[in-house]
Amino acid sequence: MEKEKTELLGLSLEEMEDFVVQNGQPKYRARQIFKWIYNKETASFYAMTDLPKEVRSEFDKIAEISIPRVLKQRVSKDGTRKFSMELEDKKKIETVVIPHSPDKNSKYTLCISTQVGCPIGCAFCATGQSGFQRNLEFYEIVGQVLGSKKELQKRLKSDDESLISNIVYMGMGEPLLNFSETLKSIKIINDSKGINIGQRHITISTSGEVKGINRLAETGLQITLAISLHAANNQLRDKLIPINRKYPLKVLMKAVEDYINKTNRRVTFEYIMLDKVNISEQDARNLIKLIKPLMANINLIPYNKVTGLDFSKPAPEKVMQFYNCLLQGGLNVTLREEKGADIEAACGQLVMKRNSRSQ
Ligand code: SAH
Ligand code: SF4
Repeated sequence: MEKEKTELLGLSLEEMEDFVVQNGQPKYRARQIFKWIYNKETASFYAMTDLPKEVRSEFDKIAEISIPRVLKQRVSKDGTRKFSMELEDKKKIETVVIPHSPDKNSKYTLCISTQVGCPIGCAFCATGQSGFQRNLEFYEIVGQVLGSKKELQKRLKSDDESLISNIVYMGMGEPLLNFSETLKSIKIINDSKGINIGQRHITISTSGEVKGINRLAETGLQITLAISLHAANNQLRDKLIPINRKYPLKVLMKAVEDYINKTNRRVTFEYIMLDKVNISEQDARNLIKLIKPLMANINLIPYNKVTGLDFSKPAPEKVMQFYNCLLQGGLNVTLREEKGADIEAACGQLVMKRNSRSQ
C-alpha cells in the first residue's frame, strides 16, 4: 500500500532521527516522538505537548501514526478479550489478549495476526477456510500491540507499561509467508526504546514454511519458534496442512534441526487433537519417534470447534490417554489450557468478519 504521508509507526529510532532531521528538526525530536508512540500509544501529533506548536501541525501534514482502531471487543468468562480492529482499507482483523491468571494484576499475552486471512488453507482452521486477502504491513502488526495495549489499559484502568508481557504470532495468517514485515515488527516490539518485550517472550508459530524457518535461523534472534505439526505422517499431514505437500516432514524436520543447531533454542511443536483423526497409539508412536531426538517441547491443543467443519474434539479421557502415551514415551509434553473458546477467540477461531454480539 503506497501512502501519501510518511508512516512513523514501526520506524526504528535511527530511522525516526533521519525523518526529523530531513524535515529541519533537531535529532532529539525523534526520541520525543518515540516516547509518545511507544509509551503513551499516541497517534496524534497535536497531543505531543513537548513539540513546538508549528512542528505539530507541520508533522501532521506530512506524517501519520496509524494505530488501528478497536471497533469492538468481546470478553470471555476467563478474562480473555478479543478485539476486532479496522485497518485503513476497512479490512478487519482480530487480536486476542489472554490473562496469565485470574489475578487483578495479571500480565497478558497478546496473540497477533500477520495477514488478512491465510493462503495455507488448513482443513481445521477458520482463518484458513476464509481465504487470503493480503499481507499486513509492519506498522499494522506493531499497531495491533499498541492498539490492544491502549484499549486494555483503558478497560482495566491500568497504567502498567508492561501489562502485555508476551507476544505470540498465532493470530490470523502464516507469519513466515510475510517474512520481512514480521521481522521488522519483531525488532520494534523487542527494541528497549520501543515496545520493549524481551525476545524470549516472543513466539512465532508456523505451519512449516521451511524457507522462512531457514531465514529466521539466520537472523540470530532468540525468539521461540513453534511448529504446527498436527500429524506425524505425511499422508495425514498432506490432508490437514496443504503446505506439507511442498515441504514434507523430512524436509521440515531437517529445517527444525538446523534451526536448533544455529540458535541453540528449544523449539515447541503444537499438536491439535482431532477426534478419530490423529490421536491413536500409532500416532503417538510416530510422534515420539519424530520429535524425541530434538529434545523439543510438545504442546497439545484440544481442537476448537469451527462452524461448518466436520472435526470434533476428543473426550477428556482420550485426551489424557494420548497425553500419557507421549509422556511415557519421554516427550516434554504440556496440555494447553483452553482460553476464550466461549467468545471464539481460541486458536483457529479467528476470522476476518463476524456479526457477533459486541461490548
Ligand atoms: N499460521 C500459523 C500461526 C497461526 S495459527 C500456524 O499455523 O502455526 C495458530 C495455531 O492455532 C496453530 O498451531 C494452528 O494450527 C492452531 N489452530 C488452527 N485452527 C485451530 C482449531 N480449530 N483448534 C485449535 N487450534 C487451531
Ligand atoms: Fe493459516 Fe495457521 Fe490457519 Fe493453517 S492454521 S490456515 S497456516 S492460520
